[in-house]
Amino acid sequence: MQFEIVTIFPGIFAGILENGIIRRAQAEGLIAVRTHDLREFTHDRHRTVDDRPFGGGEGMVLKPGPLAEALAALGIEPKAARTAEADAENPAPRTRVLLMSAQGKPFTQAVARELAAVDRVVLLCGRYEGVDERINELYCDMELSIGDYVISGGELAAAVVIDATMRLLPGVLGNEASSEFESFGVADREISTDVEGVPRSQHGAGGLLDYPHYTRPAEFGGLRAPEVLLNGDHQEIRRWRHQQQLRKTLANRPDLLENANLSEEDRKLLEDIWEGKTS
Ligand code: SAH
Repeated sequence: MQFEIVTIFPGIFAGILENGIIRRAQAEGLIAVRTHDLREFTHDRHRTVDDRPFGGGEGMVLKPGPLAEALAALGIEPKAARTAEADAENPAPRTRVLLMSAQGKPFTQAVARELAAVDRVVLLCGRYEGVDERINELYCDMELSIGDYVISGGELAAAVVIDATMRLLPGVLGNEASSEFESFGVADREISTDVEGVPRSQHGAGGLLDYPHYTRPAEFGGLRAPEVLLNGDHQEIRRWRHQQQLRKTLANRPDLLENANLSEEDRKLLEDIWEGKTS
C-alpha cells in the first residue's frame, strides 16, 4: 500500500517513519510512504505556497495552484475528470485523496478500515488557516479530522491516519489477528476464544474499550496486579477482562455503550456498577 504525503514540512515525518512498526512495514515492503514538498510545485523565486484570505481576516491560506500541481504529479485529476470509463481504460490503483482538516469528519477505526482496503492514500496537509476550499471540492474524497481540537498543521494528523491504517494491513502486526482485538476492534465480531490455551483479549469485541494490562513485577508501587491474572484460570481471566472492558467503557466512553454488543449479563453488570453495588 502506498501513502503519499503533500506537505510544506517533509522533515516532520523522518522520525515518525524511522521507528517501530511503521519502519518495519516499510522495510518488509508492505507499505511505502513518500513525502512531497509542496514548495517544489511553485514557480516564483520565493517558492510561495500561501496567500492572504479573500474577505479578510486572520492568517494565510494555502494557495490552490501548487496543491493541484502536486496532485497532477501524482497522476491525480480533479474528481469530475475521474470517470468510470477512464478508470476502466486505465486501471489506476484505487486511490483516496484526503484533506487533513479540523473541519473534517471524525477519523475513526472504521475509516481506517475503509482506507486499508484501497491501494493508495494521498494526504494533503494544511498549514496556517487551512487550504483553499476549492482543493477540497475538486480533488478530495474525504475531509478528515483527528479530533475536536486544532493543531498547527496537517502533518501530525496525516501521521495518525497512516499509522492507524497501516497496522490493519495483513502482515504488518506480528500477530495477524491482533488489531481485531483492540479498542474499537470489529464491533460485531464474536468474542474470541482461546488460542493455544491462552485466552485472547476480547478488546474491541462488541465495540468496547480494551481491558487494562499488567506485567511483572506482581507488586509495584504498593499495588498488586489483580490476583485473577496471576492464578492462570483462563475462564476466570476472560470473564474478569470482559468486566474490566465494561467498567472502562462506562467510565471513559459511555457513548460507545450505545452501539456495543451487550449481553443481558453485561447490562446487569453495568447497572450494578452504575448503582455502586460492585466496586
Ligand atoms: N482555521 C482552521 C484551523 C487551521 S490549522 C480551523 O479553525 O478549522 C492548520 C491545519 O492543521 C489545517 O489546515 C489542517 O490541515 C490541520 N489540522 C488542524 N487541526 C486538525 C485536526 N483536528 N484534524 C486534522 N487536521 C487538523
